[in-house]
Amino acid sequence: MRRPLTSMILRTYETDAQFHDARFTSKLNVKRSPLGGDFGRVRSSGTQNHQGWDLSAASGAPVFAITDGTIEWTHIYTGNSEGNPYGNQVCLRTNLARHATGQPLWAFYAHLLTITVCPRQAVREGDLIGFVGNSGNAEKTPSHLHFEIRSSGARHLGKGLLYRLNPGEVLGYGYLICS
Ligand SMILES: [Zn+2]
Repeated sequence: MRRPLTSMILRTYETDAQFHDARFTSKLNVKRSPLGGDFGRVRSSGTQNHQGWDLSAASGAPVFAITDGTIEWTHIYTGNSEGNPYGNQVCLRTNLARHATGQPLWAFYAHLLTITVCPRQAVREGDLIGFVGNSGNAEKTPSHLHFEIRSSGARHLGKGLLYRLNPGEVLGYGYLICS
């Protein structure tokens, strides 16, 4: 399996500062939610869900397919962050399966700058699928990759944690570089 980014750093107040741009004001409010880039009920003092990992990266950093698979669907952002909070999106049907049930798993990539794959396209592990950006509701934050592991290939899964798995439980927490 390949990492989705070359460098895997969970987004924090410090990484936002590292990628700081005077135009940006972080919405993460990590002083109240220091683990806001992690998976789970980590936002707004533990009252809001985050469905994946936020991984800090420079705008334009390459994003990769984590396994061989098929592009389930893509979404091209048209500028309505309320209707399309995830911005430019790619959903990859991976060749991974849930241990307990054998059901397939999907990798979901969001807030991309641009996408380099098409729906139903077959990809190999490590193929370029797009570039890191801050499209959608990340427009006022530093660039980062929002990355999810899903147990459904449907487009709209809601704001809860339904059909989302902790990426660390699937990929291994060793994928993260602690800075
Ligand atoms: Zn996120």
